[in-house]
Amino acid sequence: MPGPDPYALWIESDEPPYRVCHQAYFWTGNNGNRRTRAIAILRRLSLGDWRCRWCGDALPDWRRADARYCNEGCRKRAARSRCAALALAGRSAG
Ligand SMILES: [Zn+2]
Repeated sequence: MPGPDPYALWIESDEPPYRVCHQAYFWTGNNGNRRTRAIAILRRLSLGDWRCRWCGDALPDWRRADARYCNEGCRKRAARSRCAALALAGRSAG
């Protein structure tokens, strides 16, 4: 799935007071989707959850609001380590 428009939304402040800005859809005047995404990112920032679950870096602001990893590399490393953990668990259970 392609990511959102990288210039539509940006994090202005990633420490309190948090601020996420978005650009209006100037051709329709409909901000619903971007506003929702800005609020979702803002909520995760305030929870300290706008971080990569693998390397712990702050997520870039062009990531989807539900992104968990900062890039494909981290996502793959996390997936691989999950597989390794499962394989290990299976071995010790058997
Ligand atoms: Zn990462």
